[in-house]
Amino acid sequence: MAIDLRSDTVTKPSQAMRDAIASAPVGDDVYGDDPTVNSLEERVAAMFGKEAALFCPTGSLANQLAIRSLVGAGEELIAETNSHIVRAELGAAAVFSGITTRTWPAKNGLLKASDALEIARPNSGPYLVSTTAIAVENTHNFGGGTVQPISEIAALRKGADEIGVALHLDGARLWNAHVASGVSFAEYGKYFNTISVCLSKGLGAPVGSLVLGSKEMIASSRVWRKRYGGGMRQIGLLAAAGHYALDHNIDRLAQDHVRAKKIAVALAAIDSSLIDPATVETNIVGLDLAKFAFSAADFAAKCKENGLWISALGPKYARLVTHLDFDDAQTDESIEILKRCLKA
Ligand SMILES: *Cc1c(COP(=O)(O)O)cnc(C)c1O
Repeated sequence: MAIDLRSDTVTKPSQAMRDAIASAPVGDDVYGDDPTVNSLEERVAAMFGKEAALFCPTGSLANQLAIRSLVGAGEELIAETNSHIVRAELGAAAVFSGITTRTWPAKNGLLKASDALEIARPNSGPYLVSTTAIAVENTHNFGGGTVQPISEIAALRKGADEIGVALHLDGARLWNAHVASGVSFAEYGKYFNTISVCLSKGLGAPVGSLVLGSKEMIASSRVWRKRYGGGMRQIGLLAAAGHYALDHNIDRLAQDHVRAKKIAVALAAIDSSLIDPATVETNIVGLDLAKFAFSAADFAAKCKENGLWISALGPKYARLVTHLDFDDAQTDESIEILKRCLKA
């Protein structure tokens, strides 16, 4: 069977997770009656020290609800150039909320507070767009699973407070950042006005994200979620998968990180221009194929023929993501396939 490292979203719910889904108590969540959803929202809000949370079908919706609560129409959100909110949400902030974005570039997506603060322009008056929020992605997906230093996050909060700008955390893979850095969820929670987290990435749930913020922000986001068409009924079935994932699948992310590092070390030994293993802190291995004759798409096609699925995310950039349906034996097998395909 093919090994699929295109993303950590490709995992399938385990039998134990399916059992948890099957036995979940449910109710109509649009009426606020689903006990499993309510307990998941309370649980995740408490983990991060936030007042409230809202269960969403996708991380994109969770991000969009958060940023529309922080940034008005005709105002701007600033973010790193390759952030998911800017590149992978299909212009949702502009289409649905009238929000413009401006970006700063950072190698591997690594946060430096000064990069963001230097381009922030709050209260710009009648001629220029005013910055009202900054988004931070942790871990940074297209940056290669980069963990953002807590010292830079703290410095960004301090600088943002001085100029009256809000902070949003796109924490789709914050679980990985927590496991890699040892920084607590409550510590991350302290620095951000709003947070989104995904249950459907490394944690292995089939669906589900949450947006976190103040009681008032979540009450308003509940209205907007319905308006976007995201009001769901007996959705405790999916919230139960989320509870299961939080109970069982956080600490084991360390194994995904070890396997990603092993792949990076093996590939760097073939050609050090492919990847610097020191940059592989979590479950994402980004390969720079600039020195090779073939494109990332050709390389991905070649790997697929050999039983390994990977992503081509740029002309010369390929990405592999380890996850809970990927074990040690498959790690060794993947390395062999990658070596073979790099030589071809
Ligand atoms: C996956 C992801 C999201 C959310 O994606 P959905 O497919 O909408 O659930 C948001 N931010 C980052 C960084 C992601 O990797």
